Amino acid sequence: MIEGNYEIFQQIGYVASAILFIFGLKMLGKEETAVRGNFVSAIGMLLAVVVTFVNVIEPILVLSAILIGSAIGSLFALRVKMTSIPEMVALFNGFGGLSSFFLAWSEFTSYKAISPLLLITYLTVFIGGITFSGSVIAYFKLSEIIKFNGAILSKLSRYFLIVFIITFLLALTQIILQILNITLIDFDLIQQIFLGLLIVSILSGFCFVIPIGGGDMPVVISLLNSLSGIAAALAGILLTNTALIVAGCLVGASGLILTLIMAKSMNRTLFNIFFVGYSEGASSASDIEGEIKPINAEDCYLILEAASTVHIVPGYGMAVAQAQHVVKELGDLLEQNGAEVSYGIHPVAGRMPGHMNVLLAEANVPYDNLLEPKDINPKMESIDIVLVIGANDVVNPSATEQPGSPIYGMPIIEVHKAKTVIILKRSMSSGFAGVQNPLFFKENSRMLFGDAKESISKLVSEFKE
Ligand code: NDP
Repeated sequence: MIEGNYEIFQQIGYVASAILFIFGLKMLGKEETAVRGNFVSAIGMLLAVVVTFVNVIEPILVLSAILIGSAIGSLFALRVKMTSIPEMVALFNGFGGLSSFFLAWSEFTSYKAISPLLLITYLTVFIGGITFSGSVIAYFKLSEIIKFNGAILSKLSRYFLIVFIITFLLALTQIILQILNITLIDFDLIQQIFLGLLIVSILSGFCFVIPIGGGDMPVVISLLNSLSGIAAALAGILLTNTALIVAGCLVGASGLILTLIMAKSMNRTLFNIFFVGYSEGASSASDIEGEIKPINAEDCYLILEAASTVHIVPGYGMAVAQAQHVVKELGDLLEQNGAEVSYGIHPVAGRMPGHMNVLLAEANVPYDNLLEPKDINPKMESIDIVLVIGANDVVNPSATEQPGSPIYGMPIIEVHKAKTVIILKRSMSSGFAGVQNPLFFKENSRMLFGDAKESISKLVSEFKE
């Protein structure tokens, strides 16, 4: 009787936590409610953990795991630099996948004979394993600790990925035939196949992410996020845990929607991204015609002071310099000076989806002033000055002008069409895709070298004087 009551209490708890997740997710969609949305979702998760915890068989063991995990997670989250959040998100996805992988593995050890649940177990292990190892590679790529750009390595990885996927499908087919009593192989053999599958799933993740570069990393990261949710939902089915199924489905579905949006905004299909890749040619600075024309802050101020339309395009460098607040201050000063100011947000600028929106929202830049490439590009020729602040790949004209370029086909903010472009960066180094940028050599371009925050602060001081 008590157990029956507890079951009802637990299911009510799960439904309540699912409602909190859904409301939290909805609130995350608007910057004014996003912080509260995060909090509401966290309360939902706490509730789910508490109602699950009440009837666990080994409470001390589970509590120790929760405490150790929470301590490590909090320590990392508190110490992480703002610019390293994308890497941390990649690791979160990876550990989510790893926990589903271990969960399914441990469930498998309890099976004594063939069961339909084996199908879910195989799927959980495969997706969880790919998510973990793929996210580890994504972490190293995002932190620029490793760069795999070799064409041979990329081709080999894609080849092995296809082999691994076929191996997995064959293993899955074998289980289906076994369940249907069409084939009857020994359960010992099934156990050995499963062990092989553990290795195949981890290797698949490596092969999946190693060849991805250029502008495709954002799509891969949102897909890994989605996969971590799908693996969690499958693990929820294995454990018959409603909260895990709901939370996993929410992450899986929202991640998948984001993946499709990102792929569409990069003008790419998922098949192209994962199995074909961008072209492998790369231009060097010596191939590009034109010369670099540096400018100092004083001259830049004079040009800005006379401008009636200014468009600001932020990129990863603005995040590195943490320049968003001075950028907003400069925008306000330009407006007070009579200029019309707008901000161009490329969907993959920075190192995580929505990166620039988050930074500009933090600096209270009104949402209505943020324009997508499709809104600003048609007006670009009428813009007096574009300030490119630490952006590189997202304004690289070789994406539209050079068919052999590794990023050819990627939509960009076409700043080179404006009357004058001022690019703020520290050196001539390339962006994440490793491609030289002909924008810097164009007739209407000027380079304001230096840390973005320092350069903008100098412009702000000039305006104030
Ligand atoms: P890029 O990585 O192309 O370029 C950033 C530029 O910022 C660099 O050229 C760098 O030049 C400059 N920079 C760095 N630090 C500073 C600083 N302190 N002050 C001034 N400039 C600085 O960034 P974009 O935003 O243009 O493009 C994003 C790239 O990242 C795309 O290729 C995208 O595909 C990829 N990506 C995006 C993800 C996402 O989800 N948004 C995820 C993963 C990858 P210098 O060193 O000379 O200063």
